[in-house]
Amino acid sequence: MQHNGARGPYKGGVRYHPEVDLDEVRALASLMTWKTAITGLPFGGAKGGINCPGGDLARDELQRITRSFMSKIDKVLGPTRDIPAPDVGTNAQVMAWMMDEYGRLHGHTPAIVTGKPIALEGSYGREAATGRGLVFLFGEAAPALGIRVSEATFAVQGFGNVGSWAARILQDLGARMVGVADASGSLRGERGIDAHALRRHLDEGGELGDYVQQGVGAVSTAEFLATPCDAFIPAALGGMIHADNADLLGCRIVLEGANSPTTPQADGILTDKGIAVVPDVMANAGGVVVSYFEWVQNLQHFRWDEREVNDKLGVIMRRAHGEVSARAERDGVAPRIAGYELGIERVVEAAQTRGYV
Ligand code: NAD
Repeated sequence: MQHNGARGPYKGGVRYHPEVDLDEVRALASLMTWKTAITGLPFGGAKGGINCPGGDLARDELQRITRSFMSKIDKVLGPTRDIPAPDVGTNAQVMAWMMDEYGRLHGHTPAIVTGKPIALEGSYGREAATGRGLVFLFGEAAPALGIRVSEATFAVQGFGNVGSWAARILQDLGARMVGVADASGSLRGERGIDAHALRRHLDEGGELGDYVQQGVGAVSTAEFLATPCDAFIPAALGGMIHADNADLLGCRIVLEGANSPTTPQADGILTDKGIAVVPDVMANAGGVVVSYFEWVQNLQHFRWDEREVNDKLGVIMRRAHGEVSARAERDGVAPRIAGYELGIERVVEAAQTRGYV
């Protein structure tokens, strides 16, 4: 789905999941249009999806599906046309197969996809970028709520790429993860759940439910959502905070790592409860920002070190936060509305200047 290309080549992730459908991909593509505009990247918005049991496929099945997909859509892709990236159910390995298949058809073209492995012209810092971007924004939003990130408590829903990186980076800054959930269950631990140890446990084939740490125990989904904490980080799928559970949240700020995690009704409930929300179109943009850096490096056949990538990511995330907050204050609207206003204005300006409208 290519949503809008007024500001540059289409950009967005490819999702492999059993619930993927055309409407979901269409909605996610439009979010990419606003996200790239809000962060000032020279890209439009796109998204891809395959309805398949992504995480449960054998490696060779995953590779065959990926190569077959690429060989069917290669004509609408290209480093100046449409540049895919990973999303739920896809990863650096899938991007490597996509690049290889595109290269077989068109010659070696690293800038055709981002989120590639480091060994194949990926960017340092890309894997952690969405989680790191989220942490930068928490740092920007926290002072107004009287929260110090180094002493904060947080709960993470979804412990995949976004959730587990955000958790590990926050923990390294001194914050404490007091709740965590994935598709298999939920844990709570008031004195802190070690995000690094949990990630290692899952990487070694363990399940969330088998994770053993003193003071950490399994809880129901409702108990997990009610975890008292400073920040709640939805980092799983869309629509997981809805009208029937938003009231349970026991946090002071929601940092939307996932795309569209909060339904419009739930958004209203959070506002009534006085819970601040850093909206997805800004909060989880770190991934596409470092995807942009990867594309730039590929086009220049040059590699930046990780510190340079992270520093540049911080500059863009802070600027986006400043611009969205200033607009929200000026117009007396929520940051989500302010973000959309800014994003839409920039897309309209580009379309008008090109002479489209
Ligand atoms: P991922 O596949 O790595 O992780 C998803 C996690 O969600 C897994 O831990 C899974 O167990 C968990 N999950 C699934 N169903 C759940 C449920 N019912 N309850 C609790 N947890 C559940 O995916 P990801 O790349 O981390 O993406 C997560 C979200 O962030 C998606 O909405 C995605 O669109 C968004 N996002 C990702 C990136 C990125 O760079 N990866 C960038 C921007 C936005």
